[in-house]
Formats: sequence, structure tokens, C-alpha cells
Amino acid sequence: RIGRLRGLCLRHVSSTRQTSPIQRRFLNQFISRVQQDDLPVLEQRQFRLAVKDNIATVSPNPEEETPLTTTCGSNFLANYRSPFEATIVTQLRSRGALLVGKTNLDEFGMGSHSVHTAFGAVAQEGEQQAVNKHSAGGSSGGSAVAVVTGEADIALGTDTGGSVRLPAAYTGVVGFKPSYGMISRYGVVPYANSLDTVGLLAKEVRPITELILGSGEAEGLWAEHDPLDPTSLSPGARRRCASQRDCYHSGPLSKHPYPLKNLKFGLPLEYNITELSPSIRAAWSAAAAKLQSLGARLVPVSLPSTRHALSAYYVIAPAEASSNLAKYDGIRYGTRFTSPTESDAAVSEGQEEAQGNLYARARAAGFGDEVKRRILLGAYTLSSAAMDNYFLKAQKVRRLVRRDFNRVFALPNPLLDKPESFELSELPETVGLEDKWGPTEVDFLLCPTAPMTAPKLEEVLSEEEKDPVNAYMNDVFTVPASLAGLPAISVPMRVQEEKEGTGMAGLQLIGQYWDDARLLAVAEAVA
Ligand code: GLN
Repeated sequence: RIGRLRGLCLRHVSSTRQTSPIQRRFLNQFISRVQQDDLPVLEQRQFRLAVKDNIATVSPNPEEETPLTTTCGSNFLANYRSPFEATIVTQLRSRGALLVGKTNLDEFGMGSHSVHTAFGAVAQEGEQQAVNKHSAGGSSGGSAVAVVTGEADIALGTDTGGSVRLPAAYTGVVGFKPSYGMISRYGVVPYANSLDTVGLLAKEVRPITELILGSGEAEGLWAEHDPLDPTSLSPGARRRCASQRDCYHSGPLSKHPYPLKNLKFGLPLEYNITELSPSIRAAWSAAAAKLQSLGARLVPVSLPSTRHALSAYYVIAPAEASSNLAKYDGIRYGTRFTSPTESDAAVSEGQEEAQGNLYARARAAGFGDEVKRRILLGAYTLSSAAMDNYFLKAQKVRRLVRRDFNRVFALPNPLLDKPESFELSELPETVGLEDKWGPTEVDFLLCPTAPMTAPKLEEVLSEEEKDPVNAYMNDVFTVPASLAGLPAISVPMRVQEEKEGTGMAGLQLIGQYWDDARLLAVAEAVA
């Protein structure tokens, strides 16, 4: 295995060098690989970890020929070497992780198919002809492929609006997005801070559960506050949240498989959209029937704000992105793309025009088209003329989405002191959408992860040319949990497809805030 890894290292050249088209072909999954001559033979508690390339890593050996970069899939950061390591990577190393490489992604995490990258589109492996290759989903597509191919036992991804769950669904692995604020984001390059979470991918649920809840000597990640991340839940809040969830104390791992009897699963009516592929609809019903046969209760629920969630997400996420990406100007951050003398002169002489040209040139060369599209969209929705109609309205929708979830879950949201009240009339479009089904107190929601199975990469690329916004539709089932900061997991679901599809889709389970422990235990029983 070590020999094989070394062989790959030769091909997976670092992104700091010029790459030939042939080399680029091999870059689609891994951006760079760790060269570890003394890669230890795996002991029981050790595991191989692949890390999405928007998460900061430091090279184990700074002298090595192919140092680990943190490129975010962007030309702007193609040479960036982080001086520090993300907290989550350090936490996983201390639990036995051996870093095998950095994985390719949609630039800065923006995309649903891992095709918007400076290093060549990611594809599902194992298919011979280029035309038959399927999308690996995005934006953590490289991480998903690293898990499917067995090159990593666990892969880290980031999930802002579904980027861990969607690739997991397309490639047939497990993808878990924790409650917002549970896992530290320190060292994760921000895309949309109020939505960004670090997620984990693996072939099965169990290794993820062990890391989140702890196993043996290792403490669970859920308990670790990180003072370096201002959005990391404080130790007090963690204790308070966990005190309302017995799973953190009684240990769901001791009951295996977790008893599904008496659990109530909600089937959100609004997720049964016309765009839902019939094969996924059938597999979803079959999964519900199976749960019922295992003793669970299935009830229809209504989440009326769901139909606005996607639009709200694509206002909020680009708005935050436009602010986050403003720092990449070629002077303070990112490659300069001009000769040092030219840029230094402009800066020192304070020539506004020269400086402006310098920014423009750096950004034109540094950012890809999708990132530029998001920056423009975000800058527009935050502008004084559009703010009220877009950004503020999207924030209201976000509150409605959260309120819908709080209403259907049996467990209260531990972050709320008192139940949320919100006037539907504040948002004129929602009049008439009042709760159709009244309060239905469920333990988990059960729905598909995406409305279709992985499309062919060729189709994705030609669609991107014609109508780039079309791909946003893939996130329709994943963004609601992101807007509400809830834990969600995608487990593999087999589907019957007529044509040459992958036959894989994802079944998504969504839980109340900080109900991650039970969510993982239940996902394991369902998978
Ligand atoms: N596809 C979504 C987007 O492009 C989600 C991305 C993510 O979760 N990082 O914004």
C-alpha cells in the first residue's frame, strides 16, 4: 500500500508547480499528497485522513518537495502554505489520524459538482470513458471520492449548504454535518460564516460516531470548545445543550443497534416536489416502510417555508461570501499576478488608479467565474438599493425556516429560552401557507438528500455553460437544515434506475439542534 501511495505521489504533483494536461487529469481528486517515507503501518486506532483543501494544514516535513498547500481550489491561493493548522485537523491527529492528502473542491466551497476548480473537475472514479463519468457532487467532491476509492478512511469536508451531504449521496458514502458551532471552524477558510460547518465523510456511520461521541480514551469532539473560533459553542452552552439530550450521557453506542421502536419520523410534504426523480421518490417510500417495519412511526409534516429556503440561501451565502472574499486583493491576500515593482510602486505612492488596476488584475486572474458570480450577486444584494428586498427578506425567511423546524421537533431547541414566535404576515408571500398539519412532534425528519442521482459530468459541464444557476437546484433539500444550523446526515440509499445511472442516492435524516448523538445512532440503525 505504501508503494502504491508513493507511486501516486509522483503523479499527484503539488499545485505549486506548473502542471501539464496529463498531470492535471490526476489532480482531480487530490490537490496534493503527503510524502511520508516512513508512513507507519496502520495500527488499530490509526486511520487515514483526507482533508478538503479549504481547511488549513501544515506540512509534516517543511523541507519536502511537495509541501502541503491550502489552495481552496483557487488560482488565487495556488501557492498558499498555511503557517498554522486548523483545530479540527489537530484534534483528529491526536485521535490517530494520518494525513494522506488535500482534496479538490469547488473554489472556496462554491458549487454542487466540484467542477468550479482551478485544478480540473472531480469525477467519480472507476468508469472507463470520460463521457460516462458521473459528478461526484460538490463542493467536497474530492473528499467523497477519496473515501469511495478507499484511499482515506475518513475525509473532512465543509458543509455550508449541503457540500458534505450532496457528494456523499452522489457517491454512495455517509456524510455528516454537525450542529452549527459544534466543531471548530478555526483554520477553515470562510465562505459564509453564519452557515459554514465542518463535516465528516466515511463509508459507514460508526467511525464518524466514534469521533463525535468519543470512544476508548478519546474524548468526543462534541465536548471540545475552541477559544480560537468565536462561533464555537462555549463550554457552558455545550453542557446546557447536552443536559437536555440523554444520549450524551447514557451513550447510544452501548445500545446497538439503536432501538427505533417508538421513534417518530416526519416526512416533510414540501420535499415531495415535481422535480424529484421517480426512482428517488420510490426509494424514499421504501425507506419509510422499512423504518415502519422496524417499529418506528412515520407521520407527514409540513415545513411551509421550505419553498423559500433555496432562494434565501442563495441571497445570504453570496452576501457573506462577497464580504469574506474582499480581502483577496493581490496585496494583502492572494497571488499578486503582477510584477512586484509595479505593485509596490502603486502601493507606496498611494496611486488610487494604479492600485485599483492592480486589484482588478489580481481578481480577474485569481477568481474563477462562479466565485465572481457570487461576489457580484452578494455585493448587489447588500447594496443600499437592494438590501431591503433581498438580504433582509432572506433573513426573515431564515427565521421562518428555523421556526418551522422548531415546531415539528418534539425536543425543544436548547438555544431558545422561550418558544420562538414570528408573525407570518411579516412576509407577505407566506400568507395562506399557515401550518397545514398543526404541531407534529417528531424525533427526526426523513427525506432524500438531493432530488436526483449523480448526473453525468459532461451534462453538468454543458449545463454550466448554458445556465450556471441551474445547479443551485441540487441544494434544495440540504439548505433548510443549514439555514437552521441543525445536524443532518446523508446515508447511502440504493435506487432502481432505468438508464446508466450510478444507482446511488442519499437518504437524509435531520435532527433538532444538538441532537447529533441520537441522530448518529439512528442513522447507523437505518443505514
Ligand atoms: N452548493 C452550495 C453552494 O454552492 C453549497 C456549498 C457548500 O455547502 N459549501 O453554495
